[in-house]
Amino acid sequence: MRCSLSPLQIIVLLSGAQILLIGGVSASVWRERGFPKLARGTLFGSLAWVAALLLLAARSRLPLGLAVLLFVGLAVVGQRMFYRAIEELYELAPTPRWIDALTAVALGALVVALLVDASPNHAALAHLRVLASAVPMGLASASLNRRLRRKERAPRSAGARFVVFGATAATVMHGLRASTVFFDAPGSDLTRSPVACVALAGAMLVSLSVAMGLILEVEGRGVARLRQDNDALRRDALTDALTGLGNRRLFESAAEVELQRSRRHSWPVSVFVLDLDHFKRINDRWGHAVGDQVLIEVARCCEQALRAEDVLVRWGGEEFALLVPHCDRVSSARVAERLLASVRGLRCASIEGEEVTVSIGVAELEATDANLVATLNRADEALYEAKRRGRNRYVALGA
Ligand code: GH3
Ligand code: MG
Ligand code: MG
Repeated sequence: MRCSLSPLQIIVLLSGAQILLIGGVSASVWRERGFPKLARGTLFGSLAWVAALLLLAARSRLPLGLAVLLFVGLAVVGQRMFYRAIEELYELAPTPRWIDALTAVALGALVVALLVDASPNHAALAHLRVLASAVPMGLASASLNRRLRRKERAPRSAGARFVVFGATAATVMHGLRASTVFFDAPGSDLTRSPVACVALAGAMLVSLSVAMGLILEVEGRGVARLRQDNDALRRDALTDALTGLGNRRLFESAAEVELQRSRRHSWPVSVFVLDLDHFKRINDRWGHAVGDQVLIEVARCCEQALRAEDVLVRWGGEEFALLVPHCDRVSSARVAERLLASVRGLRCASIEGEEVTVSIGVAELEATDANLVATLNRADEALYEAKRRGRNRYVALGA
């Protein structure tokens, strides 16, 4: 079977298939990633372009006026849909009004010219049909490029770099097409105009780089969002929701790290357990919500009495655990006194006149401790002793 397609028709059909493919792929990626409006814009935009290219390939079989008008209209609309998707993704200002106005004037002039004279070889008409599509599309590309470069300043994402390249190539391509009006023979056909042919082939590069850029951008943002969600989840998993301090899990992981470090460098570590005295009474008298507020304020005030490297967590209920690196028996006494004084000095507005105190149990890491939880258990025994001795004090057990 003999192939009856011209080289131009082959280019046109290939670029149509390519646009359809990348339009479909990017639309489905956008839809999956939660950008339904952009998915629709990309899909309809690429369909409009494919329809325009099919018309271009089959224009000899249609009334020329209709084919030209549809081609130009669909190409302009398709480009606009793609560019709106890009504007939305990068939160750009919309295309300037004057470009819209110029597009409308160009299309209007083309309609009028076709109504007056649809002769295929009329030089003015041939130039007009090129200008009516190349000038507005070129200006829209240049404007998109400018807005995108201004918004997406360095360091640009890989996706933005592809989109900027695509918009630059589109500007050059439409410029080339417009320039054919000045040096091509009047009414020359695309097949006989090498510049127009190159410009058309360039369309493939444009659509490929823009679609690639959009996919990379959406993927990149998806990965960034996942990473953020992941970080937030990890933070939540280690945080006590009421006081904002770390929780038991954070203590355990910090304890593991600290145990290794202290054994390697032979420095002392102390573990404290703090428990609010007669907290049940505060709850009973002022209510649970006020009790919560007191817990938050006690947490804040203890935090302020500590150094950044100390790990204070809410162990559960009205009990806190504290890990203090580089802290032997002598310094742990100082830390405990400081904490007791801070809590005693706390004035909670919501429990006017009521004094809040804590009892503290302290233990220092010993060589026989398998881990810091063993040390914590001894601190717990010390806490029990502090309660027994009358509360509002600390008791230290250790080497
Ligand atoms: P002690 O001095 O012996 O520690 O007396 P206490 O009343 O503090 O101890 P007890 O264990 O009898 O009571 C602890 C109270 O802490 C009981 C519980 O209602 C309260 N509590 C535990 N978790 C929370 C919380 O998240 N919010 C509030 N408001 N209260 C809590
Ligand atoms: Mg208590
Ligand atoms: Mg308790």
